Amino acid sequence: KKNRMATRSPQKKKASTKYIFVVGGVMSGVGKGVATSSIGLILQSKGYAVTALKIDPYINVDAGTMNPTEHGEVFVLRDGYETDQDMGNYERFMGLELSRDHYMTTGLVYKTVIEKERNLEYGGRCVEVVPHIPQEVIRRIKKAVRTSKADIAIIEIGGTVGEYQNILFLEAARIMKLEHPNDVFSVLVSYLPIPSKIGEMKTKPTQYAVRTLNSTGIQPDFIIARSDRPLDEKRKEKLAVNCSIRKEDVISAPDVESIYDVPLNFEQDHLGDRFLKKLGLKAKKRDNLSVWEKRVMRNRKSTETVRIGVVGKYFKTGDYVFSDAYISVIEALKHAACEVGRKIELDWIDSADFETDPKRLESLRQYQGILVPGGFGGRGIEGIVSAIRFCREEKVPYFGLCYGMQLMVIEYARSVMKLADAHTKEVNGTTNHPVIDILPEQVEKLRKKNFGATMRLGQYPAMLKSGSIAREAYKSDAILERHRHRYEVNPEYIGQIEAAGLIFSATSPDGVLMEIAELPKKQHPFFLGTQFHPEFQSSLIAPHPLFVAFLRAAVKEGK
Ligand code: GLN
Repeated sequence: KKNRMATRSPQKKKASTKYIFVVGGVMSGVGKGVATSSIGLILQSKGYAVTALKIDPYINVDAGTMNPTEHGEVFVLRDGYETDQDMGNYERFMGLELSRDHYMTTGLVYKTVIEKERNLEYGGRCVEVVPHIPQEVIRRIKKAVRTSKADIAIIEIGGTVGEYQNILFLEAARIMKLEHPNDVFSVLVSYLPIPSKIGEMKTKPTQYAVRTLNSTGIQPDFIIARSDRPLDEKRKEKLAVNCSIRKEDVISAPDVESIYDVPLNFEQDHLGDRFLKKLGLKAKKRDNLSVWEKRVMRNRKSTETVRIGVVGKYFKTGDYVFSDAYISVIEALKHAACEVGRKIELDWIDSADFETDPKRLESLRQYQGILVPGGFGGRGIEGIVSAIRFCREEKVPYFGLCYGMQLMVIEYARSVMKLADAHTKEVNGTTNHPVIDILPEQVEKLRKKNFGATMRLGQYPAMLKSGSIAREAYKSDAILERHRHRYEVNPEYIGQIEAAGLIFSATSPDGVLMEIAELPKKQHPFFLGTQFHPEFQSSLIAPHPLFVAFLRAAVKEGK
């Protein structure tokens, strides 16, 4: 018996977990998050269980208190953790549902170490930045990997090599490599500029980035070379010689039209095989991203467009800022557009324009659908309410997300129920008709100025009403969706609102919280709002049913 066990055990022994650190060189904003997500997807397609983590170099304990117009969207995980938009990319590309174990900031790491010190967990020793901070980072990485049972973990380090802020995270990567020399790898996502006056792709900034990385004790195993154009052989050779890396391990990453092209592009340079070779692994299967590729091709081929206007309160600082603040909404629209065989055409419409000049509402006719995303506060609100009214009366498909649902209820109460001053308590604390009111558990938190991670956050179940647009779209009676809000439809008004014709087609299982509002299809092609954020659970492979239903209605209505 003993013998049999002995012969079996070598096969049974699971290969040790591999860790891939992704760091950025030369400049920020070159797509480290998408690169991380794409590497993950490719390694999954080779048959491995992959997970991902993000480390952000901020003092903020989480991303919940950061302004989205400056930092980009706050992505809410299933467990309610408020994180960076890159977590959304990981989930969308890899089809994962990540937990709070997969995200950390400088603030969180220091907070934990300080709390441990206060609890005497360091046994009276002097607690120091090195090694205790990198050790806490490593502990967190290993815990996340253990609970997700991954074969390969990809860890993205925020910021750029050479910054003061992320040095302790690089130190964690270096220490891990010392501890597990055959299991820890690093990837530098760098940028190769093509200065217009020179007209030639330059490798020198990347060479400096590698040297800076070397000075932290890390030698990259791969370079993902971002640029306008693909790298030629000469450029790859230059990088190889000067950065002590094999030419085949320089992966060309030219600009692409859609982020969903990135994994396919990486595979043109055989990223998957190169990575597996270095990790000492063999492909367990080979599907060559076929499902993914089919979707990408479908999207590429569609020639017709569907025109959607996004109405909100925006600073006039250029489209870039808006699109970063609503990245999950944009991606969910793209996924649904692919499903209905169209390309999405988006316009950002400042609701303040309707407040100064109501005639401009007419311009909304050019859109096949109008979407109002989540938001906070009073600015631009009256403009949004009048846009919603226009959509309801003129039968333009309308989709409201969170605040977009609350404002839809306010508009209905004002125009149809004739409650002229109906409002949300968020904006008007003394209204006679607070149709949107604060959630009871939120009152105390606001009073104590306790703002961080105190909203109704994360995934909650809801039950759908049969015969509704929502039920028809989901093809299910029960759903789980992610939330991030302080206010809700005031229970005291629910009876009146429904009597006036607006249907609450999804509620919390106990029937107390209103989760979806809609008008019957007989009255309006699509007039629907969700108290939750459906955009957090959509992907190219599995587009969100409500986004698909919205675009189907938009395509049908659009001439
Ligand atoms: N401001 C609203 C609330 O707190 C809506 C929030 C949102 O749109 N995410 O309830």
